[in-house]
Amino acid sequence: MSEMRHNWTKEEILDIYNKPFMDLLYEAATIHRLHHDPNTVQVSTLLSIKTGGCSEDCGYCPQSARYHTDVEGNDLMSINQVKAQALRAKSGGSSRVCMGAAWRNVKDGEEFDQVLEMVRTINKLDMEVCCTLGMVTENQAKRLAEAGLYAYNHNLDSSEEYYKEVISTRGYQDRLDTIDNVRKTNVTVCSGGIIGMGENIEDRAGMLVALSTLNPQPESTPINALVAVEGTPLEDQEPVSIWDMVRMIATTRIVMPETQVRLSAGRTQMTREGQAMCFFAGANSIFAGDKLLTTPNPDVNEDMKMFELLGLKPQKPFTKKVQPETVEAKDSKIEALGEKPKWTRPEHKIERNEAAKALKKEASQD
Ligand code: SF4
Repeated sequence: MSEMRHNWTKEEILDIYNKPFMDLLYEAATIHRLHHDPNTVQVSTLLSIKTGGCSEDCGYCPQSARYHTDVEGNDLMSINQVKAQALRAKSGGSSRVCMGAAWRNVKDGEEFDQVLEMVRTINKLDMEVCCTLGMVTENQAKRLAEAGLYAYNHNLDSSEEYYKEVISTRGYQDRLDTIDNVRKTNVTVCSGGIIGMGENIEDRAGMLVALSTLNPQPESTPINALVAVEGTPLEDQEPVSIWDMVRMIATTRIVMPETQVRLSAGRTQMTREGQAMCFFAGANSIFAGDKLLTTPNPDVNEDMKMFELLGLKPQKPFTKKVQPETVEAKDSKIEALGEKPKWTRPEHKIERNEAAKALKKEASQD
């Protein structure tokens, strides 16, 4: 019932997703209990260390410079700012800090060196450090590993087919190659996606095929419900129903029994009862803090009240894997190669992305 498989087919995953709801929930909860403590949930904090002004056209993202949204861009945060926020997160019960930068890909240079120093600083606070910085080369992944990075996040977002309806500036294979580069180090992989972008159930199953057939499977998989932000191409998408969210989490749990499944964006639209169902179905992580990069998220105190109500405990850091060591910059044995990799730019036309770009142009002429 809970064997680790890397050969899931779309048909098998669809059969799981479409099971009678109670059967699905029961099977997922049973598998969850075999592999995880069902009363422990990791609390992570997402820090936007460099916000907005991104060159990419991801249709869900208010940080894209191509769309007219309310997001105010910021330069890269200082190491002290990051340290202060990480300490605050730790005192609020977080065991993991995920730092996100609105970049297409990592570029060697001062800013990356600063991020490496942030990784060192947070690892020394005995918290798991995760980064999401766009595409990375093997050399950059190795430098992150040497600094003490615990996890690297790079989402597949959706199925390969539907991905093309959302993003035109980078290809699916680049995503897989980035995950592959991270896999050449000791850094764990965090990769998941978003539901509610207009995809069908086959696409959801397709994304889970892509994730579950990775060998090894990602140690962490965020399942996000789209937060439709005004000005983005996906602004008019209907909110994801809780039933779809629970089905997606339960299916993820069944096909990836050991993965930490993260109930991510979209929690403000969920009741406590809905979130409790997600935990029962196998979600074992949430993001804390009133913002998730740029979109709203429940307040930490609200989450702690929910934990109390449900008898949940926050997961301690390094429960799943030992803490990586940090090598100081002066002792580093890995030189920056200053590579200029040719990540792809498919640049096909996505109508709703074009329409949102046109609206931004109009707004800037007003
Ligand atoms: S998701 Fe990332 S790469 Fe895409 S537009 Fe937003 S910040 Fe840029």
